[in-house]
Parts: sequence; structure tokens; C-alpha cells
Amino acid sequence: MRRVYLTNEHRAVNALAATWMREAGMTTWQDAAGNQCGRLEGAVPGLPALVLGSHLDTVPSAGRYDGILGVLTAIAVVDRIHAAGIPLPFALEVVAFGDEEGTRFGRALLGSRALAGTFDPDWLDLTDENGVTLRDAYTTFGLDPQHLAAAARAPESLVGYLEAHIEQGPYLEEADRPLGIVSTIAGARRFAITVNGHAGHSGTPSTGERMHWPAPAKSSP
Ligand SMILES: [Zn+2]
Repeated sequence: MRRVYLTNEHRAVNALAATWMREAGMTTWQDAAGNQCGRLEGAVPGLPALVLGSHLDTVPSAGRYDGILGVLTAIAVVDRIHAAGIPLPFALEVVAFGDEEGTRFGRALLGSRALAGTFDPDWLDLTDENGVTLRDAYTTFGLDPQHLAAAARAPESLVGYLEAHIEQGPYLEEADRPLGIVSTIAGARRFAITVNGHAGHSGTPSTGERMHWPAPAKSSP
């Protein structure tokens, strides 16, 4: 399975998720960064929203349940609330993020970065393995890269965010538990490191140039 950001597969899965969202009673839209969104009003229209969701992109050739489980779970929750006619003191929104893995452009969380308002415009120059820039990929997808900021959500329009995610480890299965609550999370950082020099066994006298350490590279994925 390969479903990465701003591709035909992304477009198709957004359309499918939007259908499921509407069937669950939500109004739907695609935001300025290609995240598929849906909303069920609370007791009165216009209330701040509790956001549920996860991501729809996959690690190439993997991740069959990674992300999509959280999106489907969120839609199922809204479907149940809607069918039961439960008036909540907040709106419910589902966000199906277009990019979490960062596997196409080497920069993770592009979808949620846009929603959080922390998208760096410099990233538009990132390229995929075919040399396509993120800027051109947005345009090809039908989005305007100059209007990404429109995807940012005002904090006062939200009451919180909750995500169900498949466990990417063995602990729940080993403990024979269906569900756990995350108490810590990995903080991933990516560096591009170039080491110049030549190989030599520890202690081997060098006759060539000395090990040379370059200045730190500009932070990049
Ligand atoms: Zn995931």
C-alpha cells in the first residue's frame, strides 16, 4: 500500500472519507492543506469543536491500519453520537490529515502543521524523489500554496484534540489488552549529516588528509 501526500491516491481517499463523514451526519470540506474535514454541530450551531482524527497517508508499502484506524474510529464515534441525537456542549469535527509520515517530501506532519499554524513557507521548496516541489504538488492537487495559512485553526474555535491510533509496538498484545492510553510520545527529529574523511581502523595511523568536520548543515530533512 502506498498512499502519500498530494497524489491521486490522496485525492481518492479524501473523497471516500468525505462520503463516510457525510453518511455519519457531518458537513464536509477539504482544507487549504488537503486535510479532509467533517463537522457535526453541537447543541447549538457554531460551538467550539472537539477534533477527532488521524492521518490518511501511509508509510510506502506498509501502514495498512496506521492512521486510517484513527480516522474510521473518529467517524464511527460521530456516527453514533449523531444517530443517538445526543446534544453535546461542543461541536465534533473529524480531521483526516493528508500528511503525517512525511515520506514524500522528507518533512513529517505537513497536514497537522498547517492546521496548527506552524507551517514554514520555506518547506514549499522541498522536493520529492522525482524533483517535484511541494509548491507544485499543491498546485497540481488543486490547492493554492499561497493560501496554506487558511488551514490554520484559531485556538478559540477548538476545545481539544483526541486521536485513537494503532499501537506500533508489542505491549498491548503481550498484555492481552485492547486499549491503552498514551502517556509519552516519541519526539522525532531528523538531521542530514555529512562526515568527510576516510575509513581507518581505530589506532591506525593516518597518512592522508586529517578527518575534516564540516560546518553544521542547514537544518533539513
Ligand atoms: Zn500513524
